[in-house]
Parts: sequence; C-alpha cells; structure tokens
Amino acid sequence: MKPAPFVRHVPRTLDEALKILAEVAPQDGRVLAGGQSLVPIMAFRMARPAHLVDINEVAGLDRLEVEGGKLVIGASVRHAAFHKPATYGPLGKLLTKVAGHIAHYPIRMRGTFCGSLAHADPASEWCLVAATLDAEMVAKSAKRERVIPAKEFFQGIMATALAEDELLAEARLPVLAEGTRFGFNEFSRRAGDFAMSAALVTYRLADSKICDARVGVGGAEASPRRIPKAEAALNGQAPNDKGFRATAEAAAAAIDPLIDHQTDADYRRDLVRAVVRRALEASAQ
Ligand SMILES: Cc1cc2nc3c(=O)[nH]c(=O)nc-3n(C[C@H](O)[C@H](O)[C@H](O)COP(=O)(O)OP(=O)(O)OC[C@H]3O[C@@H](n4cnc5c(N)ncnc54)[C@H](O)[C@@H]3O)c2cc1C
Repeated sequence: MKPAPFVRHVPRTLDEALKILAEVAPQDGRVLAGGQSLVPIMAFRMARPAHLVDINEVAGLDRLEVEGGKLVIGASVRHAAFHKPATYGPLGKLLTKVAGHIAHYPIRMRGTFCGSLAHADPASEWCLVAATLDAEMVAKSAKRERVIPAKEFFQGIMATALAEDELLAEARLPVLAEGTRFGFNEFSRRAGDFAMSAALVTYRLADSKICDARVGVGGAEASPRRIPKAEAALNGQAPNDKGFRATAEAAAAAIDPLIDHQTDADYRRDLVRAVVRRALEASAQ
C-alpha cells in the first residue's frame, strides 16, 4: 500500500524545525528522522500523519561527541555511526557491540539512535542501552527545553514523555569509567529480527568483587528498565557462574512479562533468565 497524502516540511535550522513542529503537531504532524519505523507504518496506513517535519537537513543534529563526561548523540546520528567505537573506552565498545544487533545493514544506515528512543519499541536495543545507563534525553520545543531522565522518558509500549510538539534533539550517555565490564545478549528467532528479550549488564570490580552493577532487560516488559533485585544479587559477588545464575534468576522473577501470540509468561521469563546469564558470561570473557 501507499501512504495517505501528507505534506513534507524540510527545515534547515533547529529553530525553523521547532517552529514548524509547533504549528503542525496539533494537525497530526510528526517528526521524520530515518523513516525506518514511521514510513513502513505509514505504508500500512497504521499512521496517517498529515505533516512530516523532516529533520535530515537540520544543521547540527548530527553531533556525536563527548562533552562534560557524557556522549552527546544528536537527533540525526544513524545507528551505523556506532559500527566503529564512537568514543574511547568501554562505552564505545559497548555501543559497537549493540549496534550490530539492530535490524540489517541498510536499516542501520538510515535509522537514528534518537528515532529509536522516540519510537520506544519495547525491544529496541538503544532503548535498553538508554535505560540501563540512565541516559538523559534533551527535548526541545518552540517554547522550552527540558532534560528527561530515561526512567521518566519511557512510559510503555511506544509511549514516551515527549509532548507532541517536542523534538528529541539529543540523547546523552554517561562515559563509562576505564575498567567497567559489560555484556550484552539478545534472543531473536532470526538474525536482524527484533529481540524477544535482551539484556545489558555493566559493573566494575573492587577487590575482585562486583560493584556498581547495572542489569537492564529489554523486550520482556512494556519498557526496558534496570532490574534492582538483579543488581542487588550481583553486587558483592565474585564474577562467577554461581553469582551469574542467581542474578539471572532474580531478573526472571522480577519482570512483569509481556505476553503475545508466540510467547507466554513462562517462556518470556525463561528468555530473560537466559539472556541475563549470557550477558553476564560475556562480561567475564
Ligand atoms: C525490517 C526492520 C527491522 C528492524 N529491526 C530493528 C531491531 O532489531 N531493533 C531496533 O531497535 N529497531 C529495529 N528497526 C527499527 C529501526 O531501528 C528504526 O530506525 C528506529 O526504530 C526508528 O528510527 P528512525 O530514525 O528510522 O525513526 P522514524 O522512523 O523516522 O520515526 C519513528 C518515530 O519516532 C518519531 N521520531 C523520530 N525521531 C524523532 C525525534 N528526534 N524527536 C521526536 N520524535 C522523533 C517519529 O515521529 C516516529 O513517530 C527495524 C526496522 C525495520 C524496517
């Protein structure tokens, strides 16, 4: 099918984009970034926005740099920008590891990091990264600018704290300290498919014991999130099989599993148990 008719606006500056968005948002206007989620939905006529504010020509939104201990990722930075480490240390390596799991190469060349966050698919790898690392989202509109912590940003399946006239101008990820270990694992039926469950873990070692543990789970609940009970199970342990299994068990028990036509609650918990344990094993290699 073809999309319903729409008007495409192509602003060149951020101010212009925000002004247009303020005008068209109440008339069902939407931001167009990489188009890798929005365009297919429009083609199926599951969305019929009357206006698209195409941000691909807006100067400065391709910013990808470290500032004040945070990696700043502008709204038009593509998934493919992370095929090679975008910054030094563990964060750059973590993002490169995760990027390879997003869809397929052509989609990674167009789709954007911020577009994934704004779209808020529960199984999105970047949403999992943002939730696990406590990213900050910088939302801008013609009226105001605000910084939204990841914990408040994700509000359910494809729902975020963004108002209809707000542009997610950039996301900020904390640079991870040298020595931070990480592990990522996801399960999907075919390579390139959305994950049925995914896990990201980070931690440091002090006196050979785990500290500052972060255990994030995506694809299993309405929004990806850190799992405090799993983090409590991991902190203070040696990085070994016993502690990893206990952490995976705690994560599986803590989730409120999404259920769909191919996945019941027990299976989703099994998946979470598996991806958390595998992510922890990867962190120790
Ligand atoms: C076959 C296929 C497989 C895929 N597999 C995966 C996968 O495994 N993992 C995964 O994470 N994704 C996957 N995707 C989705 C892909 O990663 C998209 O690129 C991503 O979800 C959205 O980014 P985009 O830049 O393309 O956004 P768009 O499609 O342009 O926009 C998506 C939504 O976000 C809004 N939006 C976009 N940017 C902004 C912004 N800066 N501010 C405010 N609102 C904004 C739009 O208005 C729209 O509602 C897949 C897509 C396809 C087609």
